Amino acid sequence: MAIINNYINGNWGHSAETVCQPVLNPATQETLGQVPCGPGTAKDVQSAVAAASQALADWSNTPVMERVQPLYKLKFLLEQHKHELAKIITLECGKTLAESLGEITRAIENVEMACAAPALIQSEFSQDIASGVDEFMIRQPVGVCACIAPFNFPGMIPFWFFPYALACGNTYIIKPSERVPLTMNKVFQLIEQIDLPEGVINLVHGGKESVDPLLAHPEVRAISFVGSTAVAKYVYATASTNGKRVQAQGGAKNPLVILPDADLEMTTGIVADSVYGCAGQRCLAASTIITVGDSSKIFTEAIADVTGRRVTGYGLDKGVDMGPVITPESKQRIEGLINQGIKEGAQPLIDGRNPKISGYENGNFIAPTILENIPLQSELMKTEIFGPVMNLMHMESVDQAIQFINSGQYGNMACLFTSSGSSARKFRKEVNSGNVGINIGVAAPMAQFPFSGWKESFFGDLHGQGRHAIEFFTQTKVVIERWPKEWNRKF
Ligand code: NAD
Repeated sequence: MAIINNYINGNWGHSAETVCQPVLNPATQETLGQVPCGPGTAKDVQSAVAAASQALADWSNTPVMERVQPLYKLKFLLEQHKHELAKIITLECGKTLAESLGEITRAIENVEMACAAPALIQSEFSQDIASGVDEFMIRQPVGVCACIAPFNFPGMIPFWFFPYALACGNTYIIKPSERVPLTMNKVFQLIEQIDLPEGVINLVHGGKESVDPLLAHPEVRAISFVGSTAVAKYVYATASTNGKRVQAQGGAKNPLVILPDADLEMTTGIVADSVYGCAGQRCLAASTIITVGDSSKIFTEAIADVTGRRVTGYGLDKGVDMGPVITPESKQRIEGLINQGIKEGAQPLIDGRNPKISGYENGNFIAPTILENIPLQSELMKTEIFGPVMNLMHMESVDQAIQFINSGQYGNMACLFTSSGSSARKFRKEVNSGNVGINIGVAAPMAQFPFSGWKESFFGDLHGQGRHAIEFFTQTKVVIERWPKEWNRKF
């Protein structure tokens, strides 16, 4: 099976590392490719940084209107190839084809937003701060920047960063997850066609061995990381100690609260999509569902009905609502958490462990699961499950729900379902979460808004997407200029 190549300085080439690990289709265990993983990948990073450093002077001096022209081309190529890209995402990541297509749409939106860089990069000017003196701020590129991406959105997450970085005059390196390297290779086959100068954008593969040199290299000036909280903390601490800008998005455990005045039918469908979409493997998946007061009984019946009807299977097959989780280890970990939760007293309302999916007996499938009454001290209550498991809880008031949510470790997303404006207003004001949904189950910010995680879901100051990305990928320079009406040359 073919070894997956890097793209460095405008060329495809083998890694310096010969040890590889297989990239497996999570529904079938079919080997899709071999990704280099080992100490040799550090050499690839050195080559990529050298190429990006070499390209920096010319690219950062290219006018911004010219820098966005390749991005317009990329947008059209992504649209033209979106079905091909979506199929690769489904093959290596497991989500359904419809979910993969949605992911590409989100990537394209970020390219479009970055095309607005000529306006977004404009800055401030104060005329006459003193007689004959003006003060202004300019935004200049940061330098060589890099993205370290997770497995769950291989075709979208790098797009939260690199289109903005390039538009702002930086050069770039992408390091995808070693579990899903093929999608970015396809994206780079398109990038090859958009007339970017050599070295402006580079692709390196590998695991920790290719991350660490990015965090250490003095010429890498900014790191955008997305992944688990433990690694986000490590990346943030290491890269910032090495003097880099860092934005590190971490894990989550997202709560949805249902008030008795919520529209039951709409809410049930949205909640099921949020919990089970992408097999629960998204950082904005709902995990803890809190019914308040009288909503409990009626919602529990409705969600059990909707959950029981969801079809688990191969993401390329028609009529499938949910694909497998990423690896056998992941399946084992999630089922282990469910087992432990049940041992500790949780009741399985719907038990999705070890489903038999005809024709795909080797796949990493877990069917949608609902657990009720998980004890508060249970590991399952605190841990990010990252699988299709709903923790269903009941509380007496919206205040109690907000208090519970705010006591949690994460702050990626919190949502409320209600028809009351005042409850909605209270919730959005008081809840400690960076993304809030009101009658929305996946409050994913559009490209023009920052992807705003809080608490242990984000380490840094400026988030990905939109204006935050423009700020992250530029450094400000403030200039004070004196232009007197007449020169007094008697020093
Ligand atoms: P992960 O942390 O295992 O891996 C992410 C990246 O870090 C990969 O490129 C991997 O190669 C690298 N890496 C892994 N271990 C490392 C180490 N010890 N040192 C240096 N680099 C290392 O995450 P994952 O399993 O690929 O992705 C799932 C996680 O990502 C979940 O926790 C999910 O919530 C989170 N996520 C968060 C967001 C967000 O916006 N907050 C979005 C998507 C995913």
